Amino acid sequence: MSTINILDEKTINKIAAGEVIERPASVIKELVENSIDSGANKIEITIADGGKEKIIVEDNGSGMDADDTRKSILRHATSKIKEYHDIFETLSMGFRGEALSSVAAVSELVITTRQKDSELGFKLKVSGGKDQKEESDIVCNPGTKITVNNLFYNVPARSKFLKGRIYEQRLITDIITRYALIHNNISFILKNEESTLIEKPASNNIKENMVAIYGWNTAKESFEVKDDFVEGIIIKPTINRSSRDYMSIYVNSRFIKSKIIEDAIMDALDTLLFHDRYPIVVLNLNIDPNKIDVNVHPSKKIIKFDDETAIYQKVFDAIKEAISKSDLFENRSEEKEASQETLYPVTESESKVIKEESGKYFESNSEVQSSLATESAEKKITPKTTFRKDINIIGQIHKTYIIIETKEGYALVDQHAAEERINYNKIKAQMDAGKIGKQTLLGGKAVNLTATEMSEIDEAKNQLKDFGFMFEDFGKDCIIVKEIPSTLNIENNLKNTLLTLAKKMQENRNISIDEKKESSIKYMACRSSIKAGEVLNMAQMKSLVDELMEADNCYTCPHGRPTMLKYPLKSIEKDFKRIE
Ligand code: ADP
Ligand code: MG
Repeated sequence: MSTINILDEKTINKIAAGEVIERPASVIKELVENSIDSGANKIEITIADGGKEKIIVEDNGSGMDADDTRKSILRHATSKIKEYHDIFETLSMGFRGEALSSVAAVSELVITTRQKDSELGFKLKVSGGKDQKEESDIVCNPGTKITVNNLFYNVPARSKFLKGRIYEQRLITDIITRYALIHNNISFILKNEESTLIEKPASNNIKENMVAIYGWNTAKESFEVKDDFVEGIIIKPTINRSSRDYMSIYVNSRFIKSKIIEDAIMDALDTLLFHDRYPIVVLNLNIDPNKIDVNVHPSKKIIKFDDETAIYQKVFDAIKEAISKSDLFENRSEEKEASQETLYPVTESESKVIKEESGKYFESNSEVQSSLATESAEKKITPKTTFRKDINIIGQIHKTYIIIETKEGYALVDQHAAEERINYNKIKAQMDAGKIGKQTLLGGKAVNLTATEMSEIDEAKNQLKDFGFMFEDFGKDCIIVKEIPSTLNIENNLKNTLLTLAKKMQENRNISIDEKKESSIKYMACRSSIKAGEVLNMAQMKSLVDELMEADNCYTCPHGRPTMLKYPLKSIEKDFKRIE
């Protein structure tokens, strides 16, 4: 007896659905791509219970006639390719002809659709890919509205894997965010039972899209990257995030995940960002469709480039070029709301902002380690503005901030953050060169230690030496410190500094030697710097500001906080009602 069965169409579709349709977010992705392909400039998405109970995607695109609607839910039904070679030419969002048939197989699907020049629309209802379909002519707006009820109601194995409402909704929010950021002329609305989660009107450019998604206060602090190959917006690195998920990368306006391009962005931003912080970026690459294969991944998130190295270099160069033309200091208080915003680290409370977790949905190919990643470190980034010439230091406020009159208004320098940047650069350069600057303590300074502390210092002896400390044992509970790093203030609590540094170098957390060293350099930079609350005289302020302006990556302290904020005269004049 034969045990081989030829599967019927219904079963095939149900299996195929597993590949394309994983969860509500993947349904939405397919439906929205279809809406975009249909030429819509308005797409409205409504979800209930994280899309598990209901998904509605409504567009004002081309619509379908009755015949095409019936065809659209058949497997391999697509209006987008006819022959194999078309696959490589098409620029449309999806062309596998599987999405609607797959969704129809695992849900209760209703399509209502109308073409502009036909008087009546058409409605088709199908459940679980059943053969008997309900259809009728109806009155409706031009465009297409697709309703997906009770996803996976007939595939318990799948529905078991779905997570809670909040989680599923987050994934959906993330997906719509990625579309909204790149499709200027399409308006997107995402709603759930209670509220509007995303509202992105049609716009003129990516920056306006970012205003709708991230808010004006963030979006305005940005610079543009633009050449023939790559264009987009990068938020100044003083506003940053703790995950890579805010780097939205597109190829020919299609969202992709690409380690190589993320690396190019990170390397170009260099030490403006510190190793655990990531930028907010929207970047679109224009690549000849013949030079990529977008269909290597079933959900099309990962694409293959013919020449990865060249692409890395082009993106890297374009961003470097943009940075060299920009002033990366943050402008504050142009808008009233600015004062209500926490500066660092910024986590917007608005639900419309993608939550960090949502990035997990887009599986990242970050295992692919890039050999190019570390090559281009240590490029100089100093302000290119006229700022440095036309400044006038007014004084210090709250024993913490130096206030400066500038051509455009005024600026505040955080004295600790500023000196930390200067000292970090100094110490790092000295460590790299293996020539740490030292100062001799006349007669030495005795530091009393307990037995445990003594052994901690002893174990880290060599590393402490590398950092510029020289000391001798003096009995079993005391050392005499003879030399310390030249950046360090002698008044500083020497014992504490030594012990903390020793601990940092000896730490057995799972981090590399380089990371330990980096964290130690940051610590030394911090210990070496003026604190908030210290009174400075004019000469000290002047030399601090001068040095800051000369320093590489002067925009942030080594922890990624801003060193200086600029306040434009315009906003003062507005507040005093001198201008509108
Ligand atoms: P594909 O998008 O790969 O062609 P789908 O199963 O997603 O396959 O869609 C099948 C076909 O249905 C599409 O090729 C298109 O002709 C039609 N279609 C689907 N959604 C829409 C829509 N929102 N507006 C107009 N036509 C649509
Ligand atoms: Mg499709």
